[in-house]
Order: sequence, then C-alpha cells, then structure tokens
Amino acid sequence: MERWFHCTCGYALVLEEGGSVTCPHCGKRHGAPERRLLSVTEVAERLGVNPITVHRWCERGLVPEATREQHGRRHSWRIPEDSVAHIRRPRPGRRRKRA
Ligand SMILES: [Zn+2]
Repeated sequence: MERWFHCTCGYALVLEEGGSVTCPHCGKRHGAPERRLLSVTEVAERLGVNPITVHRWCERGLVPEATREQHGRRHSWRIPEDSVAHIRRPRPGRRRKRA
C-alpha cells in the first residue's frame, strides 16, 4: 500500500507502507507514514487554545520537532501530528497570565 504525503519542504512524496523515502527536493528522510504536519491554527483548534499561544510554544521550543517556515518577513510553524500530545505546555488549564 502506498501513501502520499508532503515533506516539510512541501514536496509530495510516496511512501510505501513500512518503508522509508528520502525527499529528492531537500534530502530529508521520512519513515513515518502516519505523520502529518499541522499548522499552528490546526493545533490550536485541537487543543482549544489561541493560535498565538501555540506559536509562542513553538518559539520557546516547547513543541517537539516543530519546523519553522519562513514566509518573506513572517514565519510560521509546522507541527507533526504526533507531537501535539507531547507539547510541554507551560501552564495546564485555562489561565493565561499574559496575552
Ligand atoms: Zn523535502
């Protein structure tokens, strides 16, 4: 069974089940067919928090394997789906000290 997915560089790749593939575009190696990359907004929706909060967690290195993406002068983050459960949230619960 084959599976299409996108490399962190945006290149579309086919990965055979249980196999691995190297991206011809950026050279990154992939071996996890289930791994999807989520945007900050998608992660925020899943966790029920503000996207700005998720962005800040990425900046602080609290999100495992988050990948920085540059868009001109701005940047955003790509977060592997399976990293969402492992985010080291600084404050569990809803309380926010600084907005
Ligand atoms: Zn790539």
